[in-house]
Amino acid sequence: MDLSFSKEDEAFRQEVRQFIAENYTDDIRAKSARSKHGYLDKESHVTWQKRLAKKGWLAPNWPTEYGGPGFTHSQKYIFDVEMGRAGVPHTIPFGPTMVAPVIMKFGTPEQKKKFLPDILETNVLWCQGYSEPGAGSDLASLQTKAEDKGDHYLVNGSKIWTSVAQWADWIFCLVRTSNEGKRQEGISFLLIDMKTPGVQVEPLVLLDGTPGPHQEVNQVFFTDVKVPKENLVGEENKGWTCAKYLLEFERGNPYSAGLTKAIQKVKKIAKDQKVGDHTLADEPEFRAKVADLETQITAMEFTELRIFSALSTGGNVGPESSMLKCRGTELQQAVSELAVEALGSYVQPFVEDGMIDTNEPNVGPDYAMTVAPYYFSLRKASIYAGSNEVQRNIMAKAVLGL
Ligand SMILES: Cc1cc2nc3c(=O)[nH]c(=O)nc-3n(C[C@H](O)[C@H](O)[C@H](O)COP(=O)(O)OP(=O)(O)OC[C@H]3O[C@@H](n4cnc5c(N)ncnc54)[C@H](O)[C@@H]3O)c2cc1C
Repeated sequence: MDLSFSKEDEAFRQEVRQFIAENYTDDIRAKSARSKHGYLDKESHVTWQKRLAKKGWLAPNWPTEYGGPGFTHSQKYIFDVEMGRAGVPHTIPFGPTMVAPVIMKFGTPEQKKKFLPDILETNVLWCQGYSEPGAGSDLASLQTKAEDKGDHYLVNGSKIWTSVAQWADWIFCLVRTSNEGKRQEGISFLLIDMKTPGVQVEPLVLLDGTPGPHQEVNQVFFTDVKVPKENLVGEENKGWTCAKYLLEFERGNPYSAGLTKAIQKVKKIAKDQKVGDHTLADEPEFRAKVADLETQITAMEFTELRIFSALSTGGNVGPESSMLKCRGTELQQAVSELAVEALGSYVQPFVEDGMIDTNEPNVGPDYAMTVAPYYFSLRKASIYAGSNEVQRNIMAKAVLGL
């Protein structure tokens, strides 16, 4: 197998690096560094995404007919690696990565014209209305109902754990349009303007005190919300097909570049930690743990290369996305745990965002404050986008045929 890149690919790598150097500016870096989870505010997210959009790189997976950059597989790989290594902000996925492919595949020409350009330009932000208080893993039991009222649906119910709903202009929702037959056959895929009367967003308070400046998850209530029929994607009662298609994009993302950056940080922490006359990085037991994770990250990288190179541009990963999601999030958690171990007694579990930005000297190195909050925050990774237990069920059935 030839793993070297062509001259054109190396030139592209330089272009990506130059873009990052010019556009991932100090103001955005500083905001992220001051947040205990590395989060950005809405304005900084939008600024960063608009810079990507201006370059034509906001949606690297979109087909060129909808404004995608038409990257080759190696360009796509290089793009992901360089962005991951630089630790740039993530693109809010609900528009470009999730609902856009569904609109491209199942939407009407009018829906494509209305929604896709604004997603590509980050003129509108989206959120995801799948989970409900009584429907998470068992998503087909969802109850938010959309009654047919002639030219519109009347929506009543609520969605929960809705990430960034407080910023979103639109929400894509799974709604119940029928109680006849199989549960999956009474679900429809509806696009709802968050400004419609009757839509209410309430923040969920998490164990670490969020919301504060970085509100993350919400409950969204719908009370007699009128949604025009033209906002139905695909056929009525066939929304389950759209829902499953979308989940492949939600789960089928590359993780290895971010993991490589994260393990490098662990190595840096270990080098700074004195153990007698040497450092933690010299301890054989610790080195073995790092080597073990690095080997697993390399295996992840090659799995990603194998899966993504088998796709044509604009294609989807299929049920193997569950494998990427499971391994990627397990490794994220394992690396963050090793970072906590490396930092030892300097770990600070309860950190407020404001504490990072004071004039008081830190206890321990500067980076110490974010290591534990990030570790705790990552516990969610094996739950969101469908829990890892459920992903294993999908792999057993759809990939291994058990
Ligand atoms: C931070 C965060 C952000 C989120 N953002 C969004 C969002 O933006 N939009 C959205 O719609 N949802 C969102 N979710 C919801 C997420 O999709 C659900 O939490 C997830 O699907 C699990 O559902 P549940 O929480 O109802 O847990 P449950 O389904 O009640 O599961 C509880 C436990 O039982 C296990 N379990 C359940 N069924 C099985 C089974 N068949 N086999 C084996 N084990 C099983 C699960 O693995 C889990 O450990 C988010 C969740 C989190 C944590």
